[in-house]
Amino acid sequence: MQFKNVIGQRELIRKLTAMALSGRVPHAQLFLGHKGNQKLALAIAYGQFLNCKNRQIFQEVSADGLLADSCGTCTSCIKFQNLAHPDLHFFFPNNKTGSMKESDSSDYMDDWRKMITEYHAEFSLNQWYDAIGLGNSQGYINKRDVDNIIKILTYKNFEAPTKVIILWMVEKFYSDISTKLLKVLEEPSEGTVFLLIAENSNQIPATILSRTQIIRVPKINEVITRTDDDNFNHDNFVDWMRMCLKVDTAQMNEFSKKMKDLGRERLKLFLNQALDKIRWTVMINYHNLDHVFVSSEEQTFLTKFSPYIHSNNLVKFVAEVEKAIYHIERNANGHLVMFDLSIKLSGLLKKQ
Ligand SMILES: [Zn+2]
Repeated sequence: MQFKNVIGQRELIRKLTAMALSGRVPHAQLFLGHKGNQKLALAIAYGQFLNCKNRQIFQEVSADGLLADSCGTCTSCIKFQNLAHPDLHFFFPNNKTGSMKESDSSDYMDDWRKMITEYHAEFSLNQWYDAIGLGNSQGYINKRDVDNIIKILTYKNFEAPTKVIILWMVEKFYSDISTKLLKVLEEPSEGTVFLLIAENSNQIPATILSRTQIIRVPKINEVITRTDDDNFNHDNFVDWMRMCLKVDTAQMNEFSKKMKDLGRERLKLFLNQALDKIRWTVMINYHNLDHVFVSSEEQTFLTKFSPYIHSNNLVKFVAEVEKAIYHIERNANGHLVMFDLSIKLSGLLKKQ
């Protein structure tokens, strides 16, 4: 996950990247804040940034509102994006299910990766418990998990300069294990960062709080000031998705020509905003968000559109749009790129 894929939180991201670029990265940080504010996405993007081999540093704030980001294409970034980097470790509340005698986070790693991908790293504890079939029992980050963390710390890093250990929902530490973890948090091991995530500081032992740098993650509450470009892009996105759903190739061709005539930068902006809308669609699909980050007009359309974007086409859909942006950046013919993309998206929208 690159920072540009995190929803909102631009100010905080600019602080995190500045801190990382200055080399002042605390070894244990606690991302603390309300549900639905992208804490997990931030932690993953941060880990990816710390290890990127080709960090992008911008002269001024980019169109995505950033001053720096990971490249998204180096070997480290690719492994992070697939959640398959050998130096990226996740721990989260779990419990035994079915015929298991004991459990730890590693037993649920496939479910975990699937949830992050499908839900854009934004899901509640209950959604997680449902996904792994916990029913009514509670999950904990348990003794086996802490033993595994200690084991991981004894290994040399496989390839990353910074080993990233993400602990999600640290409120759910099994109570008698926190002393063991405290030792780990107290004695930093070189080349390792702990990124802890929590919603409620009252439920975390003070001893853990005092050993972490607390990063308060605010609610996503972007002010919606829509420019003429935003309105133009929204109206055209609506038209575009309609013609893709109808598979109206004549209209797609006309549309592609019109979009080419916008010029490269404005076409890129259109496609980047299209990506945002797709991400919001996913958020709308899965959450009753209590914060507003789209205008009511956009929300109405995206809510109607949301059934067409789902786990079977989301990843490909985003990848195709990103590929088109890549080609346009490299001066490919906008008309052809947009027409080709329209056909591909049209096929993906038909997928069940
Ligand atoms: Zn990279």
